[in-house]
Amino acid sequence: MSKQNRIRWWWPLAAAVLLAIGALAWQHKAARTTDAAAAPPVLVIDPGHGGADGGAVAADGTQESDINLDIALRLDALARFWGLDTVMTRSGTDIDYPSDAGSIAAKKVADQHARVGLINNTPGAVLLSIHQNKYPAAAPHGIQVFYGRAAGSDELAKLTQSNLTAQVSPENRRVAAPIDQRVYLMDKANCTAVLVECGFLSNPDDLARLQTDAYRLKLASVLLGSYLQYIRGTVT
Ligand SMILES: [Zn+2]
Repeated sequence: MSKQNRIRWWWPLAAAVLLAIGALAWQHKAARTTDAAAAPPVLVIDPGHGGADGGAVAADGTQESDINLDIALRLDALARFWGLDTVMTRSGTDIDYPSDAGSIAAKKVADQHARVGLINNTPGAVLLSIHQNKYPAAAPHGIQVFYGRAAGSDELAKLTQSNLTAQVSPENRRVAAPIDQRVYLMDKANCTAVLVECGFLSNPDDLARLQTDAYRLKLASVLLGSYLQYIRGTVT
């Protein structure tokens, strides 16, 4: 499909999903940002991996880092369209590493430290880290949202999981869960933080869906809708 056709095709879908979820969010303005001392929320979008670290790789060679970035860029574009403040931990496939980071391991460490620094130096940050899952067997599938320790993380994760299940994958039975403390970025982030595993690259159906523009856009739309609901205090 040509780029123009693709754009023509996916914008109406984006508008429909966002209007449905966004309308709900805007009805309930208030609450969460009424504390005058609190910084206004900033959506920090973290496309997992990148640069020397491709993340998980599907059987057909599809790299997790590329899918993460594509969903993240769509989310960023939609959020800006709504006038929201965003920060991306990376916005391209390449990463500038410090000159003394020689090995891939050293590059990954430097990159993770830089991302944590950016997140923790962003007032009002709400972190949304985007990843894809992989398992040795083909059967496991589905979307799962994980949360960090800071206030609001579990609330945002449960809301996001619920919206993703309802809007994207009604058959999904996975539930939001605390993140493994070994996930450095999530462990060190001081802010409200969730990590979304959008699907399994090892599952043929998940992989086929994740390779389409429409599915990536739908994921981005529901992630944004969930963030809007969260910052406007719709959750009781
Ligand atoms: Zn990952």
